[in-house]
Amino acid sequence: MPAEEQLPDARFRHLALFGGEATLPEGPPSWPLPDESVRRAFEAAFADGSWGRYHGPHVERLESRLADYHAVPFTLTCCSGTFAVELALRALKVSPGDEVILAGYDFSGNFRGIESIGARPVLVDIDPCSSSLDDTMVEQAIGPQTQAIVVSHLHGGVARMRSLREIADRRGLQIVEDACQTPGGRVEGRRAGTWGDVGVLSFGGSKLLTAGRGGAIVTAREDVHQRAKAYCEQGNNAFPLSELQAAVILPQLELLDTRNAARRKNAAFLVTCLRGLDGLTPIESAPHDSAAGYFKLAWLFDEDNWTVNRERFLAAMQAEGVAIDAGFRGFTRRGSGRCRRAGELTNSARAAERTVLLHHPVLLASHATIERVAAAFRKVHQALRN
Ligand SMILES: *Cc1c(COP(=O)(O)O)cnc(C)c1O
Repeated sequence: MPAEEQLPDARFRHLALFGGEATLPEGPPSWPLPDESVRRAFEAAFADGSWGRYHGPHVERLESRLADYHAVPFTLTCCSGTFAVELALRALKVSPGDEVILAGYDFSGNFRGIESIGARPVLVDIDPCSSSLDDTMVEQAIGPQTQAIVVSHLHGGVARMRSLREIADRRGLQIVEDACQTPGGRVEGRRAGTWGDVGVLSFGGSKLLTAGRGGAIVTAREDVHQRAKAYCEQGNNAFPLSELQAAVILPQLELLDTRNAARRKNAAFLVTCLRGLDGLTPIESAPHDSAAGYFKLAWLFDEDNWTVNRERFLAAMQAEGVAIDAGFRGFTRRGSGRCRRAGELTNSARAAERTVLLHHPVLLASHATIERVAAAFRKVHQALRN
């Protein structure tokens, strides 16, 4: 769509998208951060040769630190968060022909993880306030083959885990709690990932704890931990996190609480700055005693309030120097051969069409930078709103 031709030019000529000056000409901050403690970890791993060995102290130390941090007895690191979800389902003995409840809007790998063990996703709508599985819609979705629930905390939202745990216990289901976007988050009084029978973490290249690749499961169940280990042990560990990866995650874990607090503060400040911009609704959910993690900060973009579509809005924001993108595509268009739909997926479809996500690195920037990000939103809004 040649938006240039459809808009009165005085209104948009100053936008960076059309050659005006960018609000943040330096662009978004890069990730990962050049942490001194990470550099020291690299140097130490180089000096003692652990960077090149199969076995060393770092993976064991990380697993032990993750267990302490989550106050659970068992953790197991692995090659990715995507695989960790599949591993969790295997360790819970979810089998071919079983059904697994999943939100209609979630990380695409979670759908595949269920399929890859021969089980079948049962799609349930999301709560639009949290972008996460709607606990009130779960019970009616349970059928005779349903064995488990995969639930993610997404985009600064928090799923209602107390209610999901109660339903799961009453109906004999197990829960995989995907905390890849919320490491260190607080969910109704507990560390994110510890309401589930298994919690899942990611150390992927964009995540809050990063080693480029990597993941982990956390669990209080010894049988689950044993089965996960046994599955990975295929003569050698077939899906490992490396010593070097573990070495650089360890110092980041030390910084996680401080950084989560800083991100939360900036996220709240930015949401407050932008309140009242019509056509942009923040995703905010605060169940009692919860504090989200901000891998992404999300808004719903309502096209009716704008002269442009979501893609054009995103392009305008990116040109201003803000790292903002579209959300997940969700599963509402997946055929009935691949999944069962339990009820309408209206909120999931809306989330797939409308979600815009601010990437987290800027949430560690100064107050002044957050104000400039807000200014970029206001500038684009003023030029392109209806
Ligand atoms: C990133 C992510 C994962 C897994 O990520 P990997 O890059 O495979 O480690 C899983 N679930 C959610 C919700 C995620 O955001």
